[in-house]
Amino acid sequence: MKSDSITVDDSGVQRRRRARMVEQQLRGRGVEDELVLSAMSAVPRHGFVPDELIPMAYADGPLPIGDGQTISQPYIVAVMSEALHLFHGQRVLEIGTGCGYQAAVLAAMGLEVFTVEVLPGLARAARERLEAMGRTGLHFKTADGHLGWPENAPFDGIMVTAAPSKVPHELLEQLAPGGRLVIPVGSWNQELRVYRKNSDETISRKTLFAVRFVPLVRKS
Ligand code: SAH
Repeated sequence: MKSDSITVDDSGVQRRRRARMVEQQLRGRGVEDELVLSAMSAVPRHGFVPDELIPMAYADGPLPIGDGQTISQPYIVAVMSEALHLFHGQRVLEIGTGCGYQAAVLAAMGLEVFTVEVLPGLARAARERLEAMGRTGLHFKTADGHLGWPENAPFDGIMVTAAPSKVPHELLEQLAPGGRLVIPVGSWNQELRVYRKNSDETISRKTLFAVRFVPLVRKS
């Protein structure tokens, strides 16, 4: 981990791997949002994984980040970021900070990011890493994300990166009119869903595809 360094060593090799990831895994599979593509071109994913996994940082899959948790496949990060339909300056809530990569991508999209993590060790490491990288526009909280972050609601978008068995109503309540909640739902068979709060406060829902996330745990 590179949490004690001010900048991540972003050598030519890593830049080339990252550019290839964006072209092949993202653009090549239909990700079109230039805000997402430029954010993922800029954020050094290899600065978020354990040292021994740096050579795999731009591979087409999820990676372990410690504490039994994983950083999502780059394509899933891109699809979920795109599905929020947000623009510069809007406010987004992320549940499941993990290593902080998804939060860094959202911040690089010019969003104000509120991120909640239940495991204190991961939350602390992510915060230190992002601060060391000089990322601004991020707010951290260590808590059970089922409850969202009511003091800072409403949010223009909410992204959940761990799967609850059913959608927490608190998250739908904390969505601004016009906002979207992107969330994997289910235990064994999970699906990625997008909920949209319409201007009349009704909720519409769409299912994207099957996914496999770690569970959104209940803090006892
Ligand atoms: N977005 C992360 C990956 C998330 S892995 C990244 O970019 O690295 C899922 C994360 O959700 C884990 O860190 C896990 O500890 C966290 N998590 C699980 N249950 C949670 C809960 N109830 N509230 C907040 N975070 C939770």
